[in-house]
Amino acid sequence: MSVKADLRGGAAHGVAMAGPSKPSDRASIRRTNLGLVLRLLRDSGPRSRARIASDTGLPRPTITGLISELVELGLVREGASERDGSVGRPSQAVEIDGRTICGIGLEINVDYLAVVALNLRGDVTFTRRIAVDVRSAGSEAVLDSAATLIREAAAAVQAVGARVVGAALAAPGNVDITTGRVAFASNIDWRDVAAVDGLRRRLGREAPPLRLENDAKLGAIAEYLVASASDIHDLIYITGETGVGGGIISGGQLMRGARGFAGEIGHMPLAPGGRPCACGRVGCWETMVGLGALLRHAAPDHDDPVHDPSLDVESRLADLRRRADDGDPRILEALALIADDLALGVALLVDVLNPRAVVLGGYFAVFADYLLPSVREGVARRVMAPDCGGCEVLPSTLGFTAPARGGAYLALDSVYQDPSATA
Ligand SMILES: [Zn+2]
Repeated sequence: MSVKADLRGGAAHGVAMAGPSKPSDRASIRRTNLGLVLRLLRDSGPRSRARIASDTGLPRPTITGLISELVELGLVREGASERDGSVGRPSQAVEIDGRTICGIGLEINVDYLAVVALNLRGDVTFTRRIAVDVRSAGSEAVLDSAATLIREAAAAVQAVGARVVGAALAAPGNVDITTGRVAFASNIDWRDVAAVDGLRRRLGREAPPLRLENDAKLGAIAEYLVASASDIHDLIYITGETGVGGGIISGGQLMRGARGFAGEIGHMPLAPGGRPCACGRVGCWETMVGLGALLRHAAPDHDDPVHDPSLDVESRLADLRRRADDGDPRILEALALIADDLALGVALLVDVLNPRAVVLGGYFAVFADYLLPSVREGVARRVMAPDCGGCEVLPSTLGFTAPARGGAYLALDSVYQDPSATA
């Protein structure tokens, strides 16, 4: 069975986010085995108990017991009949259920907050985005709004009879996932903000387990769940918002680096003597291809409503998109310039990492048909390896929801690590 078929069945192929747990006693061995079976069903699709036994190497009676427990937890259910081999009667396949188990992802970006609740099958239970000028609002007010959105999402999840197993916050900058602090996010001017503690305090007793991760890494996780259906296991996701961050999946693993700061590609100095960047340096790639650069080139008049952070980012981009479709030379020139600079940076990343795909998110995806032909041409011209090293440049299909979706998947990942903890 292909991975694509598994996705149609609802369960998403997993990206490795955490290391294996170490079994130390009977109960923890059982917990480990529950996780093993659940991950097998996620990654390889529905199958009979006999096949699960042969795939995991565990005895058949053990598998029967584990499946009963997973059914009781609402994590798997009986699916279609499956014939094991050419003879014998067909047996019942089991598959991921998890309609009553939800994770919440909340993205803090420069000019919006976005929340998504997904169930274990990957269905959206709740989604909402609000326009917020995050830099001028300050971290305390932003965490107030974030807590309100998480409460709203949790109420929507409970209203459909499901429960929240965790929430993950996506922040646009360097984050410390062990302390839950945003170390430095230049575009929203946050330094050493205790985001997870702040949220937990606001949510009080209702707080689900909370995690923090960089927005581009979470976007990459969400994109990988789409790309893995096409057998792509090495990809780079580029955010394409005010900030330009990168999330790298290599061999199905999220690349985090020694301290978790890998992927800050927006601050590669690609224009010596160029414009000052919010990070304090000059000529960063972000100053050339971030949303700010597009707005600066396409709408030099600062009173133009496309600059207004109180308006939703997608409606501002739809306005610019209409201008491009109407042939407005300023936006067309801006897009041509951005495409050239985008190709320059993407080619460097392709040379270093040899991905199978580079997925362009955020506003890059909105203008994909304008940007992609010349980005692809520019990348192909620069990359050392023949045929671009097999790399395709693709538009994101998840748009601005990718980081929040990735957050929801990260929150749900705890279920796969320890299914019995959802009881
Ligand atoms: Zn910079």
